[in-house]
Amino acid sequence: MKKTTGTDRSITSKWRPATQAVRAGTWRSEQGETSEALFLTSGYTYDDAETVAARFAGEQSGMQYSRFKNPTVEMLQERIAAMEGAEACLVQASGMAAMTSSLLCMLSAGDHVVAGRAAFGSCRWILNNVLERFGITHTAIDGTDNAAWEAAIQPNTKAFFFETPANPTMDLVDLEFVCGLARSKGITSIVDNAFATPVLQRPLDFGADVVAYSATKLMDGQGRVMAGAVCASQQWIEEKLSPFQRNTGPICAPFNAWVIMKGLETLDLRARHQSESALAVARFVEDRGLRVLHPWLPSHPQHNLAHRQMNAAGPIFSFFVPGGRGPAMAVCNACDLIDISNNIGDSKSLICHPATTTHHNMGPEGRAEAGIGEGMLRINIGLEDPLDLIEDLAQAFDRAGV
Ligand SMILES: *Cc1c(COP(=O)(O)O)cnc(C)c1O
Repeated sequence: MKKTTGTDRSITSKWRPATQAVRAGTWRSEQGETSEALFLTSGYTYDDAETVAARFAGEQSGMQYSRFKNPTVEMLQERIAAMEGAEACLVQASGMAAMTSSLLCMLSAGDHVVAGRAAFGSCRWILNNVLERFGITHTAIDGTDNAAWEAAIQPNTKAFFFETPANPTMDLVDLEFVCGLARSKGITSIVDNAFATPVLQRPLDFGADVVAYSATKLMDGQGRVMAGAVCASQQWIEEKLSPFQRNTGPICAPFNAWVIMKGLETLDLRARHQSESALAVARFVEDRGLRVLHPWLPSHPQHNLAHRQMNAAGPIFSFFVPGGRGPAMAVCNACDLIDISNNIGDSKSLICHPATTTHHNMGPEGRAEAGIGEGMLRINIGLEDPLDLIEDLAQAFDRAGV
């Protein structure tokens, strides 16, 4: 490999995020290629038997097998770790692989988790169905309520698990308070940062222990591949996650890692631009008289907290269509430009009805408890001109009689 500045952490850690997103973790092969190489190989060869023995003994670094390490995947890991300000990162096959392995690698039967109840549907499903089956209990609380975190702690509580902003209610968790509380009690805080990415919010700066991602979303940013990522201290990654991941295999394919890495090059631009456009569209919806959940709007109950812990609010917000499910679906159906899709973080604007899609599994009571109404719509604002998106929503509201 040719030496590049991108592999030297003492240099990359000093770069600003936009530079890290383009340069950090770049390894150059003997060919001196500009764009990072895609290593589609499962195995590796060795010049002699002693070399392979040294690698298996952990005495020499280098490749052995792509379930353990792959150069393209390593580049992505270094880049995400630099952007996150983390000592280490491992990437996985999907966001849910990242969430599942973060929890399973450190929890045992008899342990307890405190979780924010406004969460991605599959995260709730893991807590209710996977962890419970292995004797790991949890308490789901209103993550916006600092006192509730403290009250839910039990002697066997090992992890706090939450997302902020949460999907689709845009509820925030006070990172500094909740992660600080966890640390003071020896509890590991695991933050699902998929909605924000390190460009908009760096939970480690507020005391989080583990930051987990769906890289499928804003990191890829163009709706192409599935991937996940987990960032933490070198020690946690080496002792907990790495042995679990190497042996159970929820790894990210090199091709997907390569696509995400190229996505990261434009993440800073996209995240800021889409955040600005989303705010403009959210203001339009609010001016139209609808209730909007957007952390950057003064109407959001945690508006001040949003400004304390985020650089911008991201491309996603939710709003309520009066009259419930029928009128909400009518608005979706009347959009010409904005597509109906349950995905987020894409460069294309997407609208979805959480109660019948992403949060369908929770059932009516679960949804009511989490504040996911029948008239709620969640929107992802892409890279189109925001004026075209506003015009599309205006005509959709007119046609749906909203
Ligand atoms: C999408 C998403 C996930 C799951 O990620 P996948 O890549 O779809 O597996 C987890 N958490 C949040 C907040 C998400 O938006």
